[in-house]
Amino acid sequence: MKLFTLGPVEMYDRTFEIAKQQVPYFRTPEFSAVVLECERLLKKFAGAADEDKAVFLTCSGTGAMEAAVLGCFNEQDKLLVIDGGSFGHRFAELCEIHSVPYEAVKVPYGKALTREQVWEHDGKGFTGLLVNIDETSTGQLYDIEMLAEFCRKNGMFFVVDAISSFLADPIDMTAQGIDALIFSSQKSLALAPGLSVVLLSRRIYEQRVKGSKPKTMYLDLNSHIENGRRGQTPFTPAVRLIYELQDMLRYIDETGLENKLAHMKQVAEDFRSRLEGTGLTLPEYPLSNAVTPLYFPDGNAYEVYETLKRDYDVFVTPNGGELSKTVIRVGHLGNHTVEDNKMLIELFKKVLNK
Ligand SMILES: *Cc1c(COP(=O)(O)O)cnc(C)c1O
Repeated sequence: MKLFTLGPVEMYDRTFEIAKQQVPYFRTPEFSAVVLECERLLKKFAGAADEDKAVFLTCSGTGAMEAAVLGCFNEQDKLLVIDGGSFGHRFAELCEIHSVPYEAVKVPYGKALTREQVWEHDGKGFTGLLVNIDETSTGQLYDIEMLAEFCRKNGMFFVVDAISSFLADPIDMTAQGIDALIFSSQKSLALAPGLSVVLLSRRIYEQRVKGSKPKTMYLDLNSHIENGRRGQTPFTPAVRLIYELQDMLRYIDETGLENKLAHMKQVAEDFRSRLEGTGLTLPEYPLSNAVTPLYFPDGNAYEVYETLKRDYDVFVTPNGGELSKTVIRVGHLGNHTVEDNKMLIELFKKVLNK
């Protein structure tokens, strides 16, 4: 089986080694040390400051998005939500559910988010911005510097869901003034699903999170931060995933974050350079290194997805709704090389009779 999906992704052999071990009891100083090491390395890779907080949640990425909205905002806020696909729309839905006032910046399918679309909201009293920096449903990578500048200028809190982008595209929490950064185990970290992390700036912690009483037990960031000081969580964490995470972060640290990012860029660009002769085309907006959306002019995208799955045990990522006929997304996250690209391109050519 080969996965070109967007979570779970192709995992590394080293992770399977961890996954076969007994899950230990976790209310111990030894486990606390593992959590604290994960926190230190995640902050290092995200460009976070020492005093920033890390929260480890046992849930999928959406749970972390919800914890961030609930813990950082309330009915008095006015948020700007970049709604350029299903994940952006999820932030809008979370604001609805939790009665946080917001305005959505809709990004029409196939178009790049423009500076004008964001800056027309300048000076209008917005208190925070929510964005999925790689909108995984389209693969668009938004201009983080432009969004960071807008937030800084307007004194807004800057919340970035980097669930598919973290470790695939460069990011720097401190330099870009990010107040909450969200990621999940099953994307670039290439671990099993079930662990999500929220990193919080000292600013948002002190001004918003600290002492807040959101109507939730599990997703209350405060209890996680209190317990996190000693490397613990208020409730049973995804213990095995924390060990998988420690191992992965150590590996990236030993081999160098810049090499990891360079590899991701190389694999994504290599794939895109091989499309000639397939009849498949790319969108014109900027793309994340995590994913390549492919346009099928003959409307047979979903059939190709099914053929690859059935006949070759190769999984690409289908799109939902109307786009299912014309778009397939090829994920580059996880254990991928240029050789995998060659194999997939050959399969596309074969299945499409090119
Ligand atoms: C995968 C992903 C999520 C989380 O989805 P879950 O199914 O809840 O893990 C959120 N945002 C983005 C941008 C994603 O790629």
